Amino acid sequence: MVNFKQARWNEPIVFELGHKGRRGHIVPQVEESIKRNVGDVEALLPKNMRRKKLPRLPELSEVEAVRHFTRLSQMNYGVDLGLYPLGSCTMKYNPKINDLLASLPSLTKLHPYQDETTAQGVLEILSTLSAWLAEITGTHEVSLQPAAGAQGEFLGALIMRAFHKFNGTLSERTEIIIPDSAHGTNPASAAMAGFNVTIVPSDRTGCLDIDGLKSAVSDRTAGLMLTNPNTLGIFEEKIEEIADIVHDAGGLLYYDGANLNAILGKARPGDMGFDIVHINIHKTFGTPHGGGGPGAGPVGVSEELEKFLPVPRITFDGEKYHLSYEKPHSVGKIGCFHGNVAVLLRAYAYILSLGAEGLKEAAEISVLNANYLLKKINEIGAYELPYDSKRPRKHECVFSTKPFLKGQGIRAIDISKRILDFGVHAPTIYFPLIVEESLMIEPTESFEKEELDRYVEVLQKIADEAKEDPDAIFRAPQNTSVTRLDEVKASHPKSMLLRWKIHPREDGCIAKEFNDRADGK
Ligand SMILES: *Cc1c(COP(=O)(O)O)cnc(C)c1O
Repeated sequence: MVNFKQARWNEPIVFELGHKGRRGHIVPQVEESIKRNVGDVEALLPKNMRRKKLPRLPELSEVEAVRHFTRLSQMNYGVDLGLYPLGSCTMKYNPKINDLLASLPSLTKLHPYQDETTAQGVLEILSTLSAWLAEITGTHEVSLQPAAGAQGEFLGALIMRAFHKFNGTLSERTEIIIPDSAHGTNPASAAMAGFNVTIVPSDRTGCLDIDGLKSAVSDRTAGLMLTNPNTLGIFEEKIEEIADIVHDAGGLLYYDGANLNAILGKARPGDMGFDIVHINIHKTFGTPHGGGGPGAGPVGVSEELEKFLPVPRITFDGEKYHLSYEKPHSVGKIGCFHGNVAVLLRAYAYILSLGAEGLKEAAEISVLNANYLLKKINEIGAYELPYDSKRPRKHECVFSTKPFLKGQGIRAIDISKRILDFGVHAPTIYFPLIVEESLMIEPTESFEKEELDRYVEVLQKIADEAKEDPDAIFRAPQNTSVTRLDEVKASHPKSMLLRWKIHPREDGCIAKEFNDRADGK
């Protein structure tokens, strides 16, 4: 078992460090020759843009700054440290070559308002990437503009609106059907786009209930949003029948492809009959993410829906790339310029370095890893495997810790806190909503067998502790930088100290004073 103890620095905020006048960088003086030629350099700046007061910045030496941020990083945990099996989030290892490409000055120094003739390189990359994504998803054309999966869904729902409006059926087509195993963003996106949401239950096998779907579709159906593989990690077996039912009723089919790593190079949503697909670049194609960003959620559509995609679109005349705004049926813009380009560049590097065979292998190993964990955890015998236990999962598996509730009243949150003590990350908990006390585990393709074995050992140890020493579970975590947080308080805006005032200290430095309320009053 790993002997793990996370650093516990009592780290001040950066403003409290350092000393007045200390610095890590010396700004070069204006050269004499320039002074001679132009005189007072500052006078060249427009008056209203000249600085009146010096900004209050931390005053640190380089070494102090480096140590500050290194200490903070030691209190953190990430994929570069170990397994991070957050179900649905695909926390895979992100190859550093992706960052290298995205940080090339020839790309980072570009400006979105630059004339298109001077940005041919990046336009070629983006155009190539969207063609690759169209091929991978089996769609006709892809927009790279959405900045997240949820924004891709919102765009998808707007395209459904635009389609029904174009056909003169929008006033009747007011409903989007969503299974109860869907990601929570699906109903939210549909509602934001102005649709009513109808929920269809899952059947005993964890798939969409076909009879339930048949009774839910009607001439009010604008479309169906389906997460596949669904949040139980199960591939919707009757996906073609589902597609036919919705199409026959005049609805469109939306594929939530956030979990595309399960089927990369193996199956394509477009071939399954889906009209609109979003993918999560930051999950599937290797960009560091978490804590709310950064991301990209490109949307691919069928040929029929192409005219509704956002503008500008990148076109190629055989010689040069152009930006085209001439799309009268476009839903407009969903984000700035070409989307989150730094994230898209990483995806370009990722796809280029893996190649078609590599992508396929990534899918195979992610599925293999999830099923290996599924079998090993099931063998412990303490964690319940809901829904069809014989059926293989795709990229993730969902267990329930309900058996631990009996007796000591140990909950999924207690178990996940205890997992942290062993130097690995907890899975997603309490999601999907259709499984009580759930642990949703997604190992991804990027972790070794030994790490998976260690994870199983940790879960075995916790199962033993539940019988012999439940207090160890309730007290957890003890080996992390911070111990158990008050989950309610931590997410309650009135009790959070979000802002602080700075005031000068005697030694000329700056000290903080927390506002006692988040609203600053
Ligand atoms: C992550 C995820 C989303 C949402 O993606 P964001 O980029 O976080 O907005 C949607 N659907 C599924 C199935 C997901 O796993």
